[in-house]
Amino acid sequence: TAFPESEILDRLHAVFGFNAFRGVQQDVVERVLEGRSTLAVMPTGAGKSLTYQLPAVMLPGTCIVVSPLIALMHDQLRSATANGIRAATLTSVDMDRGQTIDRFLSGDLDLLYVAPERASQPHFLEMLTRGRVAMFAIDEAHCVSEWGHDFRPDYRLLRPLMDAFPDVPRLALTATADRHTRADILAQLGIPEEGLIVAGFDRPNIRYAIVPRDNPLRQLMTVIAENPGPGIVYAPTRAQVEKLAEQLQASGRPCLPYHAGLDPQVRAANQSAFVASEDMVMVATVAFGMGIDKPDVRFVAHAACPKSIESYYQETGRAGRDGDPSVAVMLWGAEDFVRARQRLAEVEEHRRAGERTRIDALASLVETPHCRRALLLRHFGENPPPSCGNCDNCLEAPRVTDATEVARKLLSA
Ligand code: ADP
Ligand code: MG
Repeated sequence: TAFPESEILDRLHAVFGFNAFRGVQQDVVERVLEGRSTLAVMPTGAGKSLTYQLPAVMLPGTCIVVSPLIALMHDQLRSATANGIRAATLTSVDMDRGQTIDRFLSGDLDLLYVAPERASQPHFLEMLTRGRVAMFAIDEAHCVSEWGHDFRPDYRLLRPLMDAFPDVPRLALTATADRHTRADILAQLGIPEEGLIVAGFDRPNIRYAIVPRDNPLRQLMTVIAENPGPGIVYAPTRAQVEKLAEQLQASGRPCLPYHAGLDPQVRAANQSAFVASEDMVMVATVAFGMGIDKPDVRFVAHAACPKSIESYYQETGRAGRDGDPSVAVMLWGAEDFVRARQRLAEVEEHRRAGERTRIDALASLVETPHCRRALLLRHFGENPPPSCGNCDNCLEAPRVTDATEVARKLLSA
């Protein structure tokens, strides 16, 4: 590489205080330092930020970081600044934009965070040409793909912008990309196929179980009773969150609701209470979880199917970050799929195929009589052993399929 390994490790320690890279971080950092464009697919919590922040402090010039949410940018800005990295955000809510631009132009920034819509503005391109761009980092890169679960048209504007800097390496980052989405990200962002790096997705300490929903309240009470540590119960609507948070009080454990309709102060208070607690049950919509650092979550229960395998993986992945045994239990019902298919009709035409594939993939995870983990990992492009020994299907005797069940009842009647 352009930099000796010892120098890279020294900087890792000096800037972040870490003694070693985790997983594929080093491969990613080395590629970028060599000026080669890369797509890194790494699970949430794997440490994606470091893979652009470290090259950003080592390479001359500024790393332009594209991020889809202002709140995420400000979080990143705070943590980068805390590590002594020279960073700024350039967004509509920042009052000091003039000063930030001056810092960029005078080479006083390692990182400059921007929203994708800025990329389309002619003056942004003009500004970049007057300074020095070290690299582009595209966070949440699945947003560029219609196959991804969170398509943002503005991400498509990044390609022409980056093409104006053909020698500047691009680093695209995402936690959630199936094979289709990955190929699409590479094509849309102009990253060569050999630039794909995929981290291991396995979370061996999480035990997966997916069971038909018959008496959800009783089933959730059982999950709570069997798992004394902190846990999250995901429910699909705000009304269900409120109701379950009430009902689950009967478990004797502290239960609080969390959803986007709550007063921001209540939401923040509930979140802090959960983070501090050793036995609380947070009943939440998917609004809960992003950016929450609680390593000892012992269970994640879904009262209904999440919207995709990606969401399932991400939400269950909030359990057991400390590596200790944890469980993920999903309750499902046929009506979850009926609703998902009904929603298809409302989806814009060009996204319907992707959406349908996602529903089918989730259905196969729910219906498989084989190892759940193997299916999950294959979905993320890995080649796992056929059986994990730590999911319901590996631990229990194979279930009789519904058709056989029905036939048996008919015969015995
Ligand atoms: P991601 O964006 O992949 O979800 P983050 O970049 O937010 O993950 O990193 C998750 C956590 O892991 C952060 O607290 C970060 O400081 C920590 N981390 C990242 N790399 C390392 C490392 N090499 N050693 C120890 N901790 C690390
Ligand atoms: Mg991240």
